[in-house]
Amino acid sequence: MDIYDVTVIGGGPAGLAAAISASEKGAKVLLIEREERLGGVLKQCIHDGFGLIRFGEKLSGCEYACRYIETIRQTPVEIRTSTFASQINNTKEGFALSLTQRSGYERVFSKTLVLATGCRERTAKQVFIHGTRPAGVLTAGSAQHFINVLGQMPGKNCVILGSGDIGLIMARRLTLEGAKVLGVYEAKSEPSGLSRNIYQCLVDFDIPLHLSHTVTEVHGRERLTGITICAVDEKMQPIPGTEEYIPCDTLILSVGLIPENELSEALGAAISPGTKGPLCDQNCQTTVPGVFCCGNALHVNDLVDYVSESGEKAGLAAADYAAAASVCQQDPPICNVSGDKSSNYVSIEHSSDFAYIVPSRVTAGVKENVPFFFRTKATRGNTTVKVYLGDEEIFRKKYIGLRPPEMEKIEVDFAQIDLRDDLHFVMEVAEHES
Ligand SMILES: Cc1cc2nc3c(=O)[nH]c(=O)nc-3n(C[C@H](O)[C@H](O)[C@H](O)COP(=O)(O)OP(=O)(O)OC[C@H]3O[C@@H](n4cnc5c(N)ncnc54)[C@H](O)[C@@H]3O)c2cc1C
Repeated sequence: MDIYDVTVIGGGPAGLAAAISASEKGAKVLLIEREERLGGVLKQCIHDGFGLIRFGEKLSGCEYACRYIETIRQTPVEIRTSTFASQINNTKEGFALSLTQRSGYERVFSKTLVLATGCRERTAKQVFIHGTRPAGVLTAGSAQHFINVLGQMPGKNCVILGSGDIGLIMARRLTLEGAKVLGVYEAKSEPSGLSRNIYQCLVDFDIPLHLSHTVTEVHGRERLTGITICAVDEKMQPIPGTEEYIPCDTLILSVGLIPENELSEALGAAISPGTKGPLCDQNCQTTVPGVFCCGNALHVNDLVDYVSESGEKAGLAAADYAAAASVCQQDPPICNVSGDKSSNYVSIEHSSDFAYIVPSRVTAGVKENVPFFFRTKATRGNTTVKVYLGDEEIFRKKYIGLRPPEMEKIEVDFAQIDLRDDLHFVMEVAEHES
């Protein structure tokens, strides 16, 4: 049985960055990807806007992925594509993985795991829409795969439900390819996507955005023939009497993304109710020692640059963890993993204004710069985010506004701070401070 220091599951930007950084730290690394090619969701993102922070350039998703794929090819990382981790056993000796691949079934052993499995789209089954189940109802990611990878148009007259970023990008893409996008309908009173995508994908292409509206029924037997839309109240309940029938052949759903947490749950990692991904520390380690998580599997990121950042961090931490483990070559191999610091953490507490903060705990006594990622629960104007250690304010940052779709990053330097107590994050109205 092959023994690896670090096994990375998922070959998207998070997994690529994790595998590269772990390998550069001297770890023996295996990268597993279930699809034929590396790159994850970036393979189907032919629009630009990737890599502005990391490379200071406007790259397409494919170009961004290529940079990492070229780098990983120059490392000794072992890459298995078309390979699926069908079972992982967390034994006290380490992790035993059962891999299913074209050449057959294989078992490998790893001291640590990095879960970089990305996220999944909410489907029609997860949003309650009455009616039949005709062809022509698909998620925005599937529509993107049809057009950008397979070169096939999913329809001619399209309606988009939900104003998430993928839906906005697909509204533009469908228009550029000759389809008519009749409108984007969003149940909330504010758009769910980034402001830049509202302007670049809808406003610039005269595609109407209808807020506080939803689709209540789909019509058609074999193929979609139309939908009923309805205005909704502040509780997002349809308002009787506002129904309107819209003829169309395609309904594209862009109604949210959820971290792919099947493996982390199966391994026993605690899941955050805020992110729906595993709870983690500042090194992306989950509540299961030796299991790290990064990218969209940890929490849904707006920008791929942050995904790569978390991948790098998880890879480095996994390599360090593995280096602290001693393996004695037996069959089955025995791996005595040391360094479980699970009891040595301070928690990150926050006021109810935050949707979530990542990481959810930090190693007590840490002396480094720790980045925290958060989202506000509701749109706010002038706001100061403050961090308290006990009664002492140790950090503050002012924002002229905060919106739920925009993920924010703050960095707190703990070099001069004796971190022995839980941290409290609060949001305050920044009157006269802007
Ligand atoms: C339409 C769209 C537009 C976007 N636009 C932008 C943009 O303009 N700018 C920007 O910065 N970001 C953008 N993003 C976001 C960016 O693409 C994502 O944040 C990033 O791709 C997430 O990377 P990831 O590695 O976490 O996940 P993914 O890219 O989803 O990769 C996960 C990989 O894990 C594999 N996998 C999952 N489970 C298993 C398993 N059990 N075994 C083996 N392999 C497995 C999957 O096959 C996949 O390849 C966009 C995303 C989309 C979808």
